[in-house]
Amino acid sequence: MTKKVLVLGEAREGSLRNVSFEAIAAAKTIANGGEVVAVLLGDAVASLAQEMIAYGADRVVTVEHPHLKQYTSDGYSQALMAVIEQENPEGIVFGHTALGKDLSPKIASKLKAGLVSDVTAIESNGDEHTFVRPIYSGKAFEKVQIKDGIHLASVRPNNITPLEKDDSRSGDVSAVSVDITNLRTIVKEVVRKSTDGVDLSEAKVVIAGGRGVKSEEGFEPLKQLADLLGGAVGASRGACDAEYCDYSLQIGQTGKVVTPDLYIAAGISGAIQHLAGMSNSKIIVAINKDPEANIFNVADYGIVGDLFEVVPLLIEEFKKIQN
Ligand code: FAD
Repeated sequence: MTKKVLVLGEAREGSLRNVSFEAIAAAKTIANGGEVVAVLLGDAVASLAQEMIAYGADRVVTVEHPHLKQYTSDGYSQALMAVIEQENPEGIVFGHTALGKDLSPKIASKLKAGLVSDVTAIESNGDEHTFVRPIYSGKAFEKVQIKDGIHLASVRPNNITPLEKDDSRSGDVSAVSVDITNLRTIVKEVVRKSTDGVDLSEAKVVIAGGRGVKSEEGFEPLKQLADLLGGAVGASRGACDAEYCDYSLQIGQTGKVVTPDLYIAAGISGAIQHLAGMSNSKIIVAINKDPEANIFNVADYGIVGDLFEVVPLLIEEFKKIQN
């Protein structure tokens, strides 16, 4: 049986986040040949609709309202519930982002529906879908099926390959008018920390530093390497606690979860709480002067050495390749 599946697109500063396109690919699998309807919520989002269609959405429904300019659970859930009531879908896919982690359980509870969160893969056999998700801080994976009712899932960024973009695709774009009321919180202003460069959660290359980096200045070579490879800088909690960098860079159980193509860990011991945030990276390179460091147990390539010697050598070599 084909299904109608909604996908919540996420935009930041006027651009759609990659996870929106990954969620469309997941929705296509669940729809099994049925219809994938993208939902865009915000104060001015209609201009983003065509990109969702180019990535595979069959049509787009927008809800535009001044109260949707910034995310609030109340505002977004009212808007999304209005679309759900209109569309009556058999599935809804979210990104497993800060927004998706907040909104998806709220919608699941309103619909009394099953939600599989943090999905890294979907195995499909016709109409039967098995969702794969990490458990025990990434030490194992479980496979979950939703037997009855509407399927809700949130997909971990960087795990499901988006469909190829096709700008010639076309689809209907319609607007739903929703009266957003009774907001318990109104966001007056968002002041973002200035982070130059690539978003850590979606970066294809992450260069992470730990307590072994020893100081704020010690992160400089890591930033240079990240810039060179078009990646983002991350950190262990050890480095954040030592005030070498901001907590927004923390990766791990109580930080961000990243799944880049390349993760370089420099001066990080590999505590289980850190591995929880990065062990699903495609290629892991560890640089540590202690050959017994636990990080080498998850690394594909290990370099036993002083990061202050190894990182500049890597920068030199990558520059040669690029020139
Ligand atoms: P250390 O363990 O001190 O390791 C530093 C490493 O650097 C060592 O292996 C050392 O050999 C190496 N080194 C030193 N100098 C050099 C050099 N010049 N060149 C190369 N290598 C060098 N941690 C996280 O990262 N993320 C989390 O989300 C997180 N959540 C937590 C939640 C809880 C509830 C708890 C209890 C802990 C959590 N932690 C988390 C902390 C975690 O247990 C570790 O303490 C932390 O990851 C250690 O950080 P580190 O590897 O940078 O430091």
